[in-house]
Amino acid sequence: MKKLLVLSLSVMLFSLTVLAQGKPKNVVLLIGDGMGLAQIYAGMVANGNKLQLERCKNVGFVKTYSASHFTTDSGAGGTALACGVKTKNGMIGMNADSVAVHSILELAEKNSLATGIVSACAVTHATPASFIAHVNNRNMYEEIATDYLKTDIDVFVGGGRKYFEERADNRNLIDELKAKNYQVAYTIDDVKAIKSGKLAGLLYEDQNPAMPERGKMLPDATMAAIEILDNNKKGFFLMVEGSQIDWASHDNDAAQVVKEVLDFDETVGRVLDYAQKHGNTLVIITADHETGGLTFPTGNIKAGTFDAAFTTKGHTGIPVPVFAFGPGADKFGGFIENISIKAKIEKLLRL
Ligand SMILES: [Zn+2]
Repeated sequence: MKKLLVLSLSVMLFSLTVLAQGKPKNVVLLIGDGMGLAQIYAGMVANGNKLQLERCKNVGFVKTYSASHFTTDSGAGGTALACGVKTKNGMIGMNADSVAVHSILELAEKNSLATGIVSACAVTHATPASFIAHVNNRNMYEEIATDYLKTDIDVFVGGGRKYFEERADNRNLIDELKAKNYQVAYTIDDVKAIKSGKLAGLLYEDQNPAMPERGKMLPDATMAAIEILDNNKKGFFLMVEGSQIDWASHDNDAAQVVKEVLDFDETVGRVLDYAQKHGNTLVIITADHETGGLTFPTGNIKAGTFDAAFTTKGHTGIPVPVFAFGPGADKFGGFIENISIKAKIEKLLRL
């Protein structure tokens, strides 16, 4: 009896030590494409001066320059986050010498973790593609779709169905996915009904619609993915992209930026609820770059309004924030390079 008590006490102490050392079992990386501090603040001001994101107490800044440009695109920006290498703008999953580099998702998969991608755009678009594909031009959508078949990713949900079935090479990748035991879903309700196994959710022909037409696709697909990935006892890695914060910023449309940021933030809140409940999940929220050079000369906190000033229709080279929550979150403070995020996750997951 005494021996048992000592044993259970030492198990408890061991678990507490592991928690303190900050080793997560699962990692969820949420990327707001084009989401700089101003995009975040636009959402916050419009939302009664608060965001779910504020629950993260570990905050840092990320330098986003690419190997070729002061101002990155989403190909090089996504590749830096996914693969931990600075590459040339336009490239996906390759270093600047056009050599394919394993992504954090592929490393997690190799180590028997469950893996997933959820995006508010086509799954073949630059950011999700950076986690799974290796091509030297981000516009090679059909090749990127083919790369999904070369992996054992457990769950992916987004748009881009046509790149899987209306292809120049006449391959039908939907049939090939089914042959690899994927359950293929075409609606968010179908996605939510699937609780285990492998899932390919191709919800739109091409790009997902903008908010509010997209509804709860992003938060719902994210939580559906987590429910499936959570079946893996070894843990999981999930990448979620709020893709259209970037597009609204390219359009210099501040009202649309707010809608997209709040959709992303709802997703963040639901992931944080999961992480808070389970205690073993590291949540990282960042961006690949800022878009639009957005700022606010004036505004009104009480009224939840601001005057928006954009300085460009393109991206900017300014650093973006990174937020972290859960075991290992303290590793994401300070001024860091975008390529260090992959290395930190790799170390924390012991890949
Ligand atoms: Zn962009």
